[in-house]
Amino acid sequence: MKKLTFNRAHKLKKEYPDYFVRIYQFNAPIVPGDTVRLTYKGTRRQTGFLNGSADAQFVANGTFITNTDIFPLTGYIRGFELQDLADRKKRGLHEAEGLPERSNQPAQKYSLFGGIGRTSLDVTVSTEPDQTVIVPGYLQKQWVKNKRAYFYYKTAEQVFPFFSVVSGRYKVKRDKYKNINLEVFYHPDHSYNVPVMMKSLKDGLAYNEANFSPYQYRQIRILEFPKYRSFAQSFPGTVPFSEDRGFLYQHDPEKLDMTYYVTAHELSHQWWGHQVGEANVKGGQMYSEGLAQYSALMLLKHQLAPVELSRYLKYELDAYLKGRSREQKKENSLYNTDNQPYVHYQKATLAYFYLQDLIGEEKINRALKKLLINYGLTDKYPTSDVLVNYLKAETPDSLQFVVDDLFKKITIFENRVINPTAKKVGAQYQVTIPIQTTKYYTDAVGIEKKTPIRDYIDVGIFTQDVNGKEKLVYLQKLKFSKDQTTVVIMVKDKPTKAGIDPIYKLIDRNTEDNQAVVSIN
Ligand SMILES: [Zn+2]
Repeated sequence: MKKLTFNRAHKLKKEYPDYFVRIYQFNAPIVPGDTVRLTYKGTRRQTGFLNGSADAQFVANGTFITNTDIFPLTGYIRGFELQDLADRKKRGLHEAEGLPERSNQPAQKYSLFGGIGRTSLDVTVSTEPDQTVIVPGYLQKQWVKNKRAYFYYKTAEQVFPFFSVVSGRYKVKRDKYKNINLEVFYHPDHSYNVPVMMKSLKDGLAYNEANFSPYQYRQIRILEFPKYRSFAQSFPGTVPFSEDRGFLYQHDPEKLDMTYYVTAHELSHQWWGHQVGEANVKGGQMYSEGLAQYSALMLLKHQLAPVELSRYLKYELDAYLKGRSREQKKENSLYNTDNQPYVHYQKATLAYFYLQDLIGEEKINRALKKLLINYGLTDKYPTSDVLVNYLKAETPDSLQFVVDDLFKKITIFENRVINPTAKKVGAQYQVTIPIQTTKYYTDAVGIEKKTPIRDYIDVGIFTQDVNGKEKLVYLQKLKFSKDQTTVVIMVKDKPTKAGIDPIYKLIDRNTEDNQAVVSIN
């Protein structure tokens, strides 16, 4: 850092050069609502080789940094605290505090991006002469000076003050959805999945616009960055996407299409995160991450047969179960999720999916539309109780408990089918399916308590088509009110397997026994 000044009288009180921390004191205190201008000049450079992992953000081709990588950060940054429980204990530190409580009113004023309010963005970046820079906003000007390529971007809309800067040698695929420019910037050899990304962008724009609100920008751009890092992230109209998450992913038709799914998720953050930004308190992440998952899964629901869709549900379910088994502290409900990805991604996906399956997708979408009307593109950041109440308002009285089960409690099922049989009756098959259903509520440390079942659960019957491919010939929600139930169903096709919750909509701790082969008598 060569220079750092404020436009108010101040002095440097203390400095910790090893940690790049400085404490300044203003001569006159700053009061809430005051503005202070900070001007700085500095360099971020890696010299020579490192013993440990090298800087993966600044690379020869495909640099991807955010403002937090190059701007001074002000205030207390909780994200820099030591997280590992054992490391903290060794240093005599108490357990790290998580997100503030949902009811913490001062904390509710801060968005998920950590600040208050939105801003305009005006950025000029220079790079290698053969590279392109992409920053959120619209390109205003581009020029070359002293063998450096310059790019000047400016937003037309107010955005949250967190932005990406990407630079690489790119090929660009352009397309259009209505008046929105779609662009994928990719390494010229990595074109395989560009059409899938384009399709996902178009499908996602169509779904989210039809069901929620108009897209707020005139462009959406996907930008490849190298696989030293493996994730994708959504900034205003701009999605940096790791090569291995999307560009080099090879889709096996019998498995998940992660490129399509992740693209839809990131696009949906333009609504969930950028239109509605939650308050940065416990439970908030059921908005940005949970709803991005919901929007993405709805696209798949409308395109896939239930058996194909079940791969995505099972993927999320398995990840949730694995996540909770590795929890070091305590499991929270979705309503109180506290930086627990297995809760606000995986469990949220299943919770929103089950609720829309039970009460209807249009009802969930009506609740979400109301959310956008009341909170979209404002500086009001909702907390989890707001959405839970909107969902409850769309749910019949008799099913209110389901919303609590999904969002406020930790609910686990153990559903199994035991030796299903079938016999031919005339031209049809009569299938008899003995089913065992058990429901538990668990506490934060995993102590389970059995609770009476009163739930709607799918019963399914499979057959094989001429190509030996499995398909569902029967899938209906039935109400279960006892632990042991025998269901009798007539079907036309020869049954091969029968199941309880056979496509994994509920949180079931053992899915191996959800389906069983039907013996024909
Ligand atoms: Zn996300």
